[in-house]
This record gives sequence, structure tokens and C-alpha cells, in this order.
Amino acid sequence: AAVEERLAAACRRAGRERAEITLVAVTKTVSADVARCLPALGVHHLGENRPQELTRKAALLPAAVHWHLIGHLQRNKIDRTLPLVSCIHSVDSVRLLQALDQEAGKQGKGVAVLVEVNAGGEGSKQGFAPADVPALAPVLRALRNVEVKGLMTMAALQEPESCRPTFALLRGLRDRLRRALEPPHTVEHLSMGMSNDFEVAVEEGATFVRLGSVLFQGVTDRGT
Ligand SMILES: *Cc1c(COP(=O)(O)O)cnc(C)c1O
Repeated sequence: AAVEERLAAACRRAGRERAEITLVAVTKTVSADVARCLPALGVHHLGENRPQELTRKAALLPAAVHWHLIGHLQRNKIDRTLPLVSCIHSVDSVRLLQALDQEAGKQGKGVAVLVEVNAGGEGSKQGFAPADVPALAPVLRALRNVEVKGLMTMAALQEPESCRPTFALLRGLRDRLRRALEPPHTVEHLSMGMSNDFEVAVEEGATFVRLGSVLFQGVTDRGT
């Protein structure tokens, strides 16, 4: 309820509707038993950063949960992960895009992805350099089963207001890539904003916020 209050206030400041934003609860630090409580609280989108843990929890939770993979996907885990996820936020190389395209074709389904951008410019972060994003358009157009729904970034852990330029940069890259592509590449989403900085991200246009610690701090978890 406190997080919803903060989301609503950020929406009011930005003149946005709460319905434009999907809260993805990042369950990587809690058990499947705790994660299982979320749908009853109205949270149906859950995120994990490790494919193996996503697979484990997905088997324990209701099939109606929408799973988001938000961390690095090794190519040897693509086949098992694809059937479970509604969106992969963390596509960080052309090789991965092409491997996803091939496996999705084999499985006879499309796969919704976001392209991860290292918009904060930190050396330690995954993702495409901002300058390389526009040149992805022809690569993406050649894919048959991958559907690019938008961009994702992680801002540096710093004063939230200092994250604003990172989020604004991602929005500009999204707008430019969207103009260069046609459906099924709708390129409408911006996955940005974590516990530290989600209000600024909403003000800058986030459509997915990925929240972990702000939801689960204080949760005593002895589940599995
Ligand atoms: C862990 C994680 C989050 C959530 O981080 P919090 O600061 O706990 O909200 C969001 N995105 C990614 C990619 C993560 O790995």
C-alpha cells in the first residue's frame, strides 16, 4: 500500500495514469512461499534475475503469474526459459537476440523482449551502449520471432534525482528506435526504476518498474 501511494503520487506529478505502469515484484530475495502471497495482493507480474530460480519458482506458483526475466540469460538456458516467461527484459547482445529468435521459431511462438541498455554508462553493467542502439534497427527487422517491446536499463545506485538523465536518455532512445521499426516491434515500453529510484523513473516515463527491497524489507522468510 505504501509503494502504491508513492507510485500514485509520482503519476500525479507527471500527469500520468497509474494504469500505464506495471509493477514487477522482484522475488529474487524471497522464497516461493512469500512470492505465492503476491497474486492475492493484486501483484501478478513477478521478476527473477536468474533463469534457474525463475524456473524453480514458476513450478511452485500458479500458472496465471506473469514471469519477467530481468537478468542475464545464458544461451544454454533459452529452451527451458522461453515457455515460462511473458517478457525477457535483459537482452544484451545480438548473439542472444539471434539465439532467442531461433529457439522461439523451434517452439512455434513469438518472444517478447526488451533490449537492455547501459544508459548509465557504468563499466560494470550489462547492456548495449546507448550509441549502439540506433544501429540495431536493421538487425531487429531481420528477426522473425523476437518482438521488441521496448528498452530496459538499470541506473547507478546514487541520489535518485541523479538518475533522471539516465532515464531520459533511455526514453529518447526508445522514441528513436520506435520510429525506425514496425509491428510486431512496438517498442513502447521502458523498464526502468528500482527501489531506490522508481519515482523518478515514473516521472520520466517508465512503463515497468522492477521493485524488490522496497516490497520485501522486514519480511521474515523461512519458506522454501
Ligand atoms: C534485484 C533487481 C531489481 C530490484 O532491485 P531493488 O533495488 O531490490 O528494488 C531490479 N532490477 C534488476 C535487474 C535486479 O537484478
